[in-house]
Amino acid sequence: MAEVSVRKLIKRFGQFEVVHGIDFDVTDGEFMVLVGPSGCGKSTTLRMIAGLETVSDGEISINGELVNDVPPRDRDIAMVFQDYALYPHMSVKQNLGFGLKMRDMPRAKIEEAVQRTADILQIRELLDRKPKQLSGGQRQRVAIGRAIAREPQLFLFDEPLSNLDAKLRVEMRTQIKRLHIAFNATSIYVTHDQTEAMTLADRIVVLRGGVIEQVGTPDQLYNHPVNRFVAGFIGSPT
Ligand code: ADP
Ligand code: MG
Repeated sequence: MAEVSVRKLIKRFGQFEVVHGIDFDVTDGEFMVLVGPSGCGKSTTLRMIAGLETVSDGEISINGELVNDVPPRDRDIAMVFQDYALYPHMSVKQNLGFGLKMRDMPRAKIEEAVQRTADILQIRELLDRKPKQLSGGQRQRVAIGRAIAREPQLFLFDEPLSNLDAKLRVEMRTQIKRLHIAFNATSIYVTHDQTEAMTLADRIVVLRGGVIEQVGTPDQLYNHPVNRFVAGFIGSPT
């Protein structure tokens, strides 16, 4: 299980404050989407949850434990980025197993985890290929596979589909949602794409300029936006 709680979270880069004390909770099993225009602090917030950025002030807890000072590798998190660099000299299978090998998992266990991941992502027939023998969508699936192979409870996605063409984006959305369900995971997904947010989310956090404008289900945001910004961003006819 995985629950995330964010309290009065502040991020400063030098003198410049970019996240201004935000609060939200992600419940166990939820698919939460952080949405908002470019530069509003989505990636910074996600990176603080992952432990890749320090917290300037406030608290982040995972399963009730304050993690502000817990290093990324001890947070049981998988993070998937937009730029999915695979190791070019390794096969798909080796790419999937690499992180597990680094964690000293025994060989047979690695094999098992790799096969399970490949099944879920439907990339079994690609296991012996090198990254350059894959299409863009296949590469992205392998990158996601690499992040999830150790079966963490919390998935963090930072615009993972924005480099893919429109058709693939739709296909991968379905894959990501399937994955979330198959792993019983909790997911936090960053995007600036409203359609992506509306189709994937259980709930959505709308950010603007480092402040939360509204948190709600797609239906709530669409039918009861709290202001013109949310209405404009989500696309309801106010
Ligand atoms: P988003 O992901 O919503 O597009 P970011 O979280 O990347 O936005 O950035 C939020 C703000 O913080 C932007 O103004 C950005 O320029 C600034 N920022 C992000 N990373 C750094 C950094 N390492 N140093 C200084 N400013 C940064
Ligand atoms: Mg970003």
